[in-house]
Amino acid sequence: MPELPEVETIKNELSPYVVGHCITGITLFWDGIVRRPSAKEFCSRLIGQKVTGVARRGKYLILDLASGEVLIIHLRMSCSLLIKQAPAEPERFTRAILHLDGNTQLIFRDPRKLGVMWLVEDTNSIVGKLGPEPLEESFTPELLAGLLANRRAPIKALLCDQSFIAGVGNMYADEALFSAKIHPLRPGKSLSWDEIERLYNAIQQVLWAAIGNKGASVVNYYRPGGELGTAHFQFKVAHRLSGESCPACGTIIERISIRNRGTYFCPRCQPRQA
Ligand SMILES: [Zn+2]
Repeated sequence: MPELPEVETIKNELSPYVVGHCITGITLFWDGIVRRPSAKEFCSRLIGQKVTGVARRGKYLILDLASGEVLIIHLRMSCSLLIKQAPAEPERFTRAILHLDGNTQLIFRDPRKLGVMWLVEDTNSIVGKLGPEPLEESFTPELLAGLLANRRAPIKALLCDQSFIAGVGNMYADEALFSAKIHPLRPGKSLSWDEIERLYNAIQQVLWAAIGNKGASVVNYYRPGGELGTAHFQFKVAHRLSGESCPACGTIIERISIRNRGTYFCPRCQPRQA
């Protein structure tokens, strides 16, 4: 599933092809990709609009339109946004095509039909409940400490909770906790100030490194040009095969399930008791 670094990469690489360009047509192969308004109204309101900007909030991609409306996209588990020059043969699993002036096509390719689009006037009607952006300056160790106070949930679950912090998901939560040497089942409120600072720095470090590597192509993630990201080659624990050892100490990486998410950690580098 694309997380913050993958969506940030898509935003950066899509921008030159869409910003300043007009939507000249829409082909929907599967109406279910449009969550709001109706598919028919979605098309009629979108055609003729100019895209004035592309932004990201959490794992959501936001296209600003000249009318003041916003096209919000969530790729969920398996959706890719690909840029092609027309005429292009529709690939297998193409669910929608946004036709742009200059013969550019923005293709929504989604094997599992989980991606969603909304056309709304108020961005916050979709993303308003998200927690802070971890890479913004306003996100500080003090803010993280405040969020963790009184939270009994496992730190891994909190990091994956989009209303707690926006954009971090399963892969980068595991990587950040390994880097910070914190066991994923530790209750949020049990972290010391020292651990909170380590976790804060680890979140920044793993997210920026992954953006630098254009995201992680573990499953179904392609950049808009069709290339893969390489961030997963830097992963220390996330998505390790069973029997693989910790790169720091050689102990076998453990996999447990926390709230139905496969969680990877090193039992020696990340002890249960601080
Ligand atoms: Zn280790």
